[in-house]
Amino acid sequence: MRLTRYFLPVLKENPAEAQIVSHRYMLRAGMIKQQAAGIYSWLPLGYKVLKRIEQIVHEEQVRAGHIPLLMPTLQPADLWRESGRYDDYGQEMLRIKDRQGRDMLYGPTNEEMITDIFRSHVNSYKDLPLTLYHIQWKFRDEMRPRFGVMRGREFLMKDGYNFDLTVEDALHAYNRHLVSYLRTYERMGLQAIPMRADSGPIGGEDTHEFLVLAETGESEVFYDSAVTDISLGARDIDYDDKVQCKAVMEEFTSLYARTDETHDEAAFNAIPEERRKSARGIEVGQIFFFGTKYSEAMGATVVTPDGSKVPVQMGSHGIGVSRLLGAIIEASHDDKGIIWPEGVTPFHCGIVNLKQGDDETDAACESIYKALQKAGLDPLYDDRNDRAGAKFATMDLIGLPWRITVGPRGLKNGVVELTSRRTGESEEMTADAAVARIIAIYNGL
Ligand code: ATP
Ligand code: MG
Repeated sequence: MRLTRYFLPVLKENPAEAQIVSHRYMLRAGMIKQQAAGIYSWLPLGYKVLKRIEQIVHEEQVRAGHIPLLMPTLQPADLWRESGRYDDYGQEMLRIKDRQGRDMLYGPTNEEMITDIFRSHVNSYKDLPLTLYHIQWKFRDEMRPRFGVMRGREFLMKDGYNFDLTVEDALHAYNRHLVSYLRTYERMGLQAIPMRADSGPIGGEDTHEFLVLAETGESEVFYDSAVTDISLGARDIDYDDKVQCKAVMEEFTSLYARTDETHDEAAFNAIPEERRKSARGIEVGQIFFFGTKYSEAMGATVVTPDGSKVPVQMGSHGIGVSRLLGAIIEASHDDKGIIWPEGVTPFHCGIVNLKQGDDETDAACESIYKALQKAGLDPLYDDRNDRAGAKFATMDLIGLPWRITVGPRGLKNGVVELTSRRTGESEEMTADAAVARIIAIYNGL
């Protein structure tokens, strides 16, 4: 993309309404525009990151054996009357009447609807296990929408639902989700710690929330610092292997890590003092096992091998896709702007032309731009007729992890400059070497 042809409405001033850094930078970098409290348009740069995050979530869900579908945003109230949640959900639910006067709602989550789909089409144990998921907009009329996309009213969520014959199989689905979530967040450059949590209106016994540690997080958390030393990394996971998934789950959840809702002073105090940490965290996902709560209420049963009929065992699993943009920025920025991890960056590399209109410099930029595109990468070429300082400021603000700077002085010596946004370090090399380096970095992901 050439910047002169793009739509990147950056702001020079700090927007007064933004209280936290991710919100401020998303507004300043022209990623979002608020349309009503907690409701945003996704401008091109923000939309690009949202799509990258969505793509990673899809890839990791499919890798774990889960099947994508798409349910609507609007739901009939009657489904929710069956589960009893229509009255329970309270003011967070946006209720709508259609022209026939029928009660509808904008879905805050989809347990009822997926259970309805299941009961219409599945009735034998032979069709299990089954996990279906979608990535769809949700609406919750939050009391205090704030912090930009972090606590919106309309937000994008991945929600998945497992259907299993036995509790044991459903717990495997739980563990499988836990492992796939770890991999999902790590690919986004995030450490998200599974913490034992409270189940809230979804219901159920077993539940973990995934928290990214950040001072601006809304949740209070308590943990053993040893939990921050473990990562999934490049381990080969067989998602059908119950023993392996359970072992990973245990590895990540046996050290003390809890939100304030389930915090237990005595257990916390048993940790060696120097490892006892309390901090704030951003909830970027949650997994639940709730057994037959919905299947019993809504009549979702399966015939077992011995011919009897039982309600199906279920769980639900959510990732805050749009909230993740805020969480990533909270975890990765400096005083000049965002620092995107390579896994989610909107453009792979910026190209800064220090002397627009100079034939040789323009030609060098063009050839770098084309070479990166030919390699399947998505560069952003700042081809504006602007000062170097202004160009650098924009690149730093929008946070592309790599920048190639091209100017007449360097070209005289046959070099361009390759700069890492994260370290600020620059290296001089030929244009070909810079292109090769960028290609190698992204091939290595
Ligand atoms: P919270 O406690 O933050 O209100 P929740 O526990 O009600 O969230 P879940 O039902 O677990 O939310 O939804 C799954 C994920 O969706 C959450 O882990 C979070 O990342 C995201 N999410 C929930 N509410 C919002 C919101 N208002 N804005 C953006 N993302 C949200
Ligand atoms: Mg939650």
